[in-house]
Amino acid sequence: MAKYIVVAGGVMSGVGKGVTTASIGKILQEHGYKVTAIKIDPYLNYDAGTLRPTEHGEVWVTDDGGEIDQDLGTYERFLDMDIPRKNNITTGQVYKTIIDRERQGEYLGQTVQFIPHIPDEIKRRIKDTSNDFDFVLIEVGGTIGDYENIPFLFAAKSLEREIGKHNLSYVLVTYLPIPSHIEEMKTKPTQQAIRLLSESGIFPDFIICRAKKALDIVRKKKIETYANIISEHVISEPDIETVYQIPLDLEKEKLGEKILKEFGMKSKKQPNWNEWKKLVENILNPKKNVKVAIVGKYIDIGDYNLADSYISINQSLLHAGASLGIGVDIDWLDSKKFEDNKKNLNELKNYDGIIVPGGFGASGVEGKIMAAGFARENKIPYLGLCYGLQLAVVEFARNVCGLKDANTTEVEPKTKNPVIDVQPAQREILEKHMYGGTMRLGAYAAVMKEKTQVLRLYQETGRLHEDTKRIQELMKDKSQTFRLGILEKGKKIVLERHRHRYEVNPKYVNLLEKNGMVFSGYYERFDKTKLMEYIEMPGQFMIGTQAHPEFKSRLGNPSPMFYGFVKACISNH
Ligand code: GLN
Repeated sequence: MAKYIVVAGGVMSGVGKGVTTASIGKILQEHGYKVTAIKIDPYLNYDAGTLRPTEHGEVWVTDDGGEIDQDLGTYERFLDMDIPRKNNITTGQVYKTIIDRERQGEYLGQTVQFIPHIPDEIKRRIKDTSNDFDFVLIEVGGTIGDYENIPFLFAAKSLEREIGKHNLSYVLVTYLPIPSHIEEMKTKPTQQAIRLLSESGIFPDFIICRAKKALDIVRKKKIETYANIISEHVISEPDIETVYQIPLDLEKEKLGEKILKEFGMKSKKQPNWNEWKKLVENILNPKKNVKVAIVGKYIDIGDYNLADSYISINQSLLHAGASLGIGVDIDWLDSKKFEDNKKNLNELKNYDGIIVPGGFGASGVEGKIMAAGFARENKIPYLGLCYGLQLAVVEFARNVCGLKDANTTEVEPKTKNPVIDVQPAQREILEKHMYGGTMRLGAYAAVMKEKTQVLRLYQETGRLHEDTKRIQELMKDKSQTFRLGILEKGKKIVLERHRHRYEVNPKYVNLLEKNGMVFSGYYERFDKTKLMEYIEMPGQFMIGTQAHPEFKSRLGNPSPMFYGFVKACISNH
């Protein structure tokens, strides 16, 4: 049976609970255990698909099409594994399930109540993620003392009663401020958090103390006495330069061994942090730096569908850089400045590479198209992510194929040359398969063209092999085979995650190809429609993908597209 570790946060939000949870997971993995992690979000939204990114950070997309809080992304980046959507539990999901059940008469006349029905449903969802894992980490969102997370603490307590305390541990991640006017680290807010947690009957087994500095003996003792736990279980987690240092720092305090001991367990293997240390070292002291421009729209904060939080892209560049010993400096350029004055495009010459990331809506689009054109003409390495592919296609259609009015119907619904468009048949399928929207969401297979730059990148990074295993898993699950589409035997297949509505219009593919654009991979739906997944320009690094490869980049296992891009930036340096 799985062991559970409940991680709750005290004092305030933003102390790094997600990263701490991921780090504990990484540590237990290094000690030889199979680990997964759950994020509990105490809001009433069913998922994060409709949340404003400027408030909640970017939406994370899972292989199985979940739109989720970005903490799941942190787990995947640390644990190097694909985590399914069911590992995100929201209050909205819990209530919806219960109300739906009640409407279907499944409670047979019972009064449906907070207790026991809500904690029971939470427990059912938690256990449902456990499969054959040794450890399940459960990060409770929000801060102790919030009304919203009480049901989840109650459920944890109830799970503890059910499976026994020896199978469940509590970790409190807290914050110790050093107010500037007294320059002394204060433990009082942590004491309050401990007291608030005890109101739910929970006494932490470990207290992880986030602060500017490591705790001294005096503060550790204070917390030890107040929380009634041994001081070895009060662990410092001081500010650091890169989050990937955290597992190493926590291991300096022997957190792995201590947690295992708490469960009466021992390490299954001697942890080997050499590889991880080397990557961290590369992040901290790169041999060389390249400079990348990310051209997006950054100011329309009132816009609902703003996709302008780019944590995953940031992380993907960091991972690719770490593997290559290269630091990547990022400048965020507002595409509208190119629309205001074409001369501003020359600024792009100062960069080793250009990224046009995902986005929605019409604002800033012309500027992004101009940037794509500038990259193509000046042979500056270019990586187009989703919208970045679509707009590079629009640019190529206009300026190389001579279709002056080419556009995406997202921006110009009546354009005569809709090179990017929603596919009618696809919309039908989407509506049948997905709830909550009409997006193509989650992992889709791409059949790769031989001898292309993109295929080479997947080979070079070992992703082709990894994806073959994953494809076999997907084949077994009938509800997911639409993600693979038609796969011809002997073809090379890769998987990336998607989140978009529009596609390269199949009617224009021939014309674009004739003019020199290479489509390096496609997804073939069961009705034989081929959707283009990758573009590249021969003789230069100008690559685009309809997917979001940034969702599958991990430290030590970088995304092929980003890896290739950073390498191209070095050559262009
Ligand atoms: N707006 C485009 C679409 O929906 C691109 C989306 C994206 O970049 N994620 O197809």
